[in-house]
Amino acid sequence: MQFEPKDTELENNYGDTNYAKDILLLFGTFLGLVVVLYAISGFTIDYFIDSLSLENEAKVSKLFSSIEAKTEQSEDEQKYQRVLNQLVAASNQSHKNFILKIKSGKIVNAFAHMNQEISIYDYVIDNSKTENEVAMILAHELGHYHHRHHLKALGRVGILLSISTMLLGVDSEITEAVFNTVQMVQMTFSRQQETDCDLYGLELLNKRYGNVTGATGFLTQIEKDSSDLESAVQYFSTHPHPKERKALIEKVIEERGYLYQKP
Ligand SMILES: [Zn+2]
Repeated sequence: MQFEPKDTELENNYGDTNYAKDILLLFGTFLGLVVVLYAISGFTIDYFIDSLSLENEAKVSKLFSSIEAKTEQSEDEQKYQRVLNQLVAASNQSHKNFILKIKSGKIVNAFAHMNQEISIYDYVIDNSKTENEVAMILAHELGHYHHRHHLKALGRVGILLSISTMLLGVDSEITEAVFNTVQMVQMTFSRQQETDCDLYGLELLNKRYGNVTGATGFLTQIEKDSSDLESAVQYFSTHPHPKERKALIEKVIEERGYLYQKP
């Protein structure tokens, strides 16, 4: 019998026209799987971190407390440290120690760091009309610790890096695309977290001062500042729009009958 080589040309599924489509489909499926995997592991992490006892939470936080050497506080830092301490004392986190730092820069933002350090820009303090306005910002940051957002974020970043590095290596362009997509999913989560912290801050402000005047001052500052496009884009990618945040805060103030003097 004579061997006749089969003509495979017509049976080839990877014709030039379909090739790009197949790759796209494959990539889309892959991306979808990564997002689903990431979401599932993210929720699992959130569940375990929420179940951590106060004792274990303190142990984990201690691991980070030595990250940055503590420097002497300036006079202003000492002043707002006292404001922070009084908020902490009125909160459900009075067993924790927080350190206040003031950074210099024309930036409307504040941060809650892993090592229980809360930093706020001097620009924000200078543009706040009252102590309560600053207190609301600090109370919001305390909300991030109450909800253990740092530990959750740390867990999620770990998962994300493990998945993408394991599957694709570190230098791949696909890793970057996957990373960006998952980052966008993460931002949606973080917008929810910001709302949760606004509500935590509002409740704490009321507990501490018996009124919530100044609760929206920071958001007004952000609105004014958003003329600076770069900082606005950076801020809005991780936070809900200040108008929405203000509206929600005002709605809750009314619902709960908190004392509040409109600015
Ligand atoms: Zn926040």
